[in-house]
Amino acid sequence: MAENIEKVKCLIIGSGPAGYTAAVYAARANLDPILYTGSEPGGQLMITTDVENYPGYPEGIMGPQMMDDFRKQAERFGTDIRYEMITKVDFTGPIHKAWTEAGAEIHADTIVISTGASAKWLGLESEQQLMNKGVSACAVCDGFFYRGKEVAVVGGGDTAAEEALYLSKLCPQVHLLVRRDEMRASAIMQERVLKTENIIVHWNTETKEIQGDDSVESVKVFNNKTNEESVIDVKGFFVAIGHKPNTDIFKDWIDLDDTGYIITKGKSTQTNREGVFASGDAQDNIYRQAVTAAGTGCMAALDAERYLTEKGII
Ligand code: NDP
Repeated sequence: MAENIEKVKCLIIGSGPAGYTAAVYAARANLDPILYTGSEPGGQLMITTDVENYPGYPEGIMGPQMMDDFRKQAERFGTDIRYEMITKVDFTGPIHKAWTEAGAEIHADTIVISTGASAKWLGLESEQQLMNKGVSACAVCDGFFYRGKEVAVVGGGDTAAEEALYLSKLCPQVHLLVRRDEMRASAIMQERVLKTENIIVHWNTETKEIQGDDSVESVKVFNNKTNEESVIDVKGFFVAIGHKPNTDIFKDWIDLDDTGYIITKGKSTQTNREGVFASGDAQDNIYRQAVTAAGTGCMAALDAERYLTEKGII
């Protein structure tokens, strides 16, 4: 084997709750894992503020602090953490190949994919400026902070419907901004939304700007049927126009569903490639919680350990 090729038993790609949890378990099982963080070490939790629904933190914790704790725990058991991207893989054979952005080649007996998903954003400047100051992409994470306040949700799919329904239990009024004259959400979700008295659906409505200095005060919208602009006073603005799983580099090797999420077998984290396991939001478009991601990260490491044992590698 060429000198510049590194051989590992377990390569973990991604550094959110799933990747770090996989690392804790893999390291404690003596798999000597190497973890590549990707371009956003810590993942989506790095752009949230207080996390109050992760068990074990009775007073809540800041998302970045929590990810720092996860990282330290993974390091404590010997995980080799590298702040780089994996940009290419080749899963042709029993030895799985991966390349870093710097061009280093790694050969791994097992791979745990935990590359997560990224929320899609509208792309407005004001959206960036007010991120975490009223702008959020997760009602379950941040909805609590808007109890008793009016909020808006943008989107017309199942995620937007779910976010609006969740917020309707906390907020007196939820404005659902749908850019067309129909929703893409499933019939049952649409029915629930339309039956909920404190959700007002604004059809044909596009967001022009989110207004406020240090926190969201209102949203300027445009009706593309009447060509009229108006302003809705809200304290929270939830963007729910979909997530994109970060799975592009795997698409030639791993079975993905229509929207790019990795398909895993039964109750396991096994993909269609032997020795390649998937965890976290890269394979979950339903729950998408830090705690569920951590759970599947644990499963992936246990699945990898079992695979290595069965193959006689460890
Ligand atoms: P979808 O792609 O289904 O819907 C995205 C929505 O956002 C669409 O209504 C789209 O409008 C709208 N949108 C996109 N870009 C913009 C924009 N720039 N401005 C305004 N609106 C925009 O994404 P979801 O996250 O809702 O769902 C993804 C998948 O996950 C779906 O298959 C869904 O069924 C599934 N899911 C299932 C759940 C469940 O079963 N409990 C819960 C959540 C999701 P338009 O229609 O005009 O394109």
